Amino acid sequence: MTPLIETHELTKHYRLGTHDVPALRGISLQIRPGAFVAIMGSSGSGKSTLMNLLGCLDTASSGSYRLDGTEIESLRPAELARMRNRKIGFVFQSFNLLPRADALDNVELPLLYAGIGAAERRRRADEALAQVGLSDRRLHRPAQLSGGQQQRVAIARAVVNRPSLILADEPTGALDSRTSLEIMALFQELNNQEMTIVLVTHEADVARFADRVVRCRDGRIVEDRRQAAADAGALLGELPTSEAAA
Ligand code: ADP
Ligand code: MG
Repeated sequence: MTPLIETHELTKHYRLGTHDVPALRGISLQIRPGAFVAIMGSSGSGKSTLMNLLGCLDTASSGSYRLDGTEIESLRPAELARMRNRKIGFVFQSFNLLPRADALDNVELPLLYAGIGAAERRRRADEALAQVGLSDRRLHRPAQLSGGQQQRVAIARAVVNRPSLILADEPTGALDSRTSLEIMALFQELNNQEMTIVLVTHEADVARFADRVVRCRDGRIVEDRRQAAADAGALLGELPTSEAAA
């Protein structure tokens, strides 16, 4: 099977005044369609830099990156932006929702950039919000939602374009442990529907829900292993119901 992601010896150096900061020192990685990969490593190990390259938000200093068969270095900026919009959905630790827009408008945003008409945008955004269990919060603005609900809106926004790849950088970093489990259950559901997920985390408690763990240290991959993923939905079912309901 052709890999969805194929990198060869990717490096990234940041220039800081006269200093040259090596963030990635040669990353070679293949990820198959339908995989659920956790990228782990301590702070400063290069995880976010790697995500930015994989997400076509930044370009490497050297090496090559092929996404869904397309050589990324060969693309012009406009083509790169189009690739990003069509192929990738992003989820961030801080949700990154537009504060003055309601859930529906936030989810419609990538469709607006893709030039899709109003009626179709509304239909697809409704569907994505239903998929994350938030149909009854469509008209709420971010401030009127809990952290977990805001992250669900962000996930709906990430999947609304039906991308080939979801990139999530510490998506549970701002959430309590129960809500984190709910979000991981949602990622596993999306993965079961063949969505490829690459998720950055420094928590083993989060990485256990992936079926492959890639560990970075000092800009290199130091471990790459497959594992039997824990089932977040099943663990959630075993938890006592929330205090509010008790
Ligand atoms: P992680 O996400 O694993 O914490 P990062 O990818 O953010 O790691 O950072 C990797 C290394 O690159 C660190 O040493 C960091 O200080 C450096 N770095 C990251 N972004 C920049 C930048 N914009 N300018 C200079 N150095 C940077
Ligand atoms: Mg980071």
